[in-house]
Amino acid sequence: MSLSPYIISGPCSAESERQILDTALSVAPAGANAFRAGLWKPRTHPGMFEGVGDKGLAWLKKARSETGLPIGTEVASRRHVEAVLDAGLDFVWIGARTTPNPFMVQEIAESLSGSGLKVWIKNPVSQDIELWAGAVERLQACGITNPGLIFRGFQAFDNVSGRNAARWMQAIEMRTRFPQLQMLCDPSHMAGDTALVPSLAARAMNLGMDGLMIEAHCCPQEALSDSNQQLTPAQLAELIDNIKLRRGNSDAVSERLSVLRDNIDELDARLLEILSSRMRLSDEIGMLKRECGMPIIQPERWDRVMKKALSDASGLGLQEDFVKSVFRFIHEASVNRQ
Ligand code: PEP
Ligand code: MN
Repeated sequence: MSLSPYIISGPCSAESERQILDTALSVAPAGANAFRAGLWKPRTHPGMFEGVGDKGLAWLKKARSETGLPIGTEVASRRHVEAVLDAGLDFVWIGARTTPNPFMVQEIAESLSGSGLKVWIKNPVSQDIELWAGAVERLQACGITNPGLIFRGFQAFDNVSGRNAARWMQAIEMRTRFPQLQMLCDPSHMAGDTALVPSLAARAMNLGMDGLMIEAHCCPQEALSDSNQQLTPAQLAELIDNIKLRRGNSDAVSERLSVLRDNIDELDARLLEILSSRMRLSDEIGMLKRECGMPIIQPERWDRVMKKALSDASGLGLQEDFVKSVFRFIHEASVNRQ
């Protein structure tokens, strides 16, 4: 894990030359390593602010020449890529609404091929790691061997807080699949709320991410998109300082320990979700058995469940006694519920 996280920051959308320059000039001293701003915005409804489009390219270039920061924007089509290449931006990202569309990813991959431009790929809003992995593969097949990944959480349909919608396991799984690729976390879109951004950013760093993409705006309350989640430059500076301070203070062992503990916490949460789904299935089975007057306990079925578990477990390096005890507990609990 590097001591210095890579920070891409800037507004959700470019709105005016003044807003771009004011924001860039304040995120640079706050510690950002690169400047972002969306020019073509994928909005849910037509008629919402859909970005300033091509005219913002010149504003970004001005921001680069005044701050020295590399500049980038979101691309969702061949046309966007061509405009970005013409303007000579430094990086692009594929947004969470584009990544799940293989046609669009293919078109972007082909139009970026051979350009040498740095590409970041956000995970899809729906929870589908295969589509995220597929986007990486499409880029790699076009010679973009080293795209970066940005984990931005998922759409939360059930009104859970940003923290729950994060589902870090998916990021960890993607990390395992593509260990050579850099991964940033975007706590802004994950949170949807300024107040949650610092804690999500800290958690992302504990999980061993290489850096962050964070939305910041010179005047968040006036932002034309995502005004609830953008940080002021001062809030950004504080967040970056805290992250660097934490990293500087902790020695290598305790840092590693905290990464491992965070991973354990994620796995435990997953384990509980799986147990809860299993119990729901067993409730359903209980209801069916009652409807047709079958006995709750069926020894031969239980015998098969245990044998299968033991044989699966032996290939996973789990001890037989341990698996037997766990499955006995689970069985007892489901029989009690039925
Ligand atoms: C963005 O970065 O402004 C954006 C639209 O993000 P996402 O694709 O993650 O929703
Ligand atoms: Mn945004």
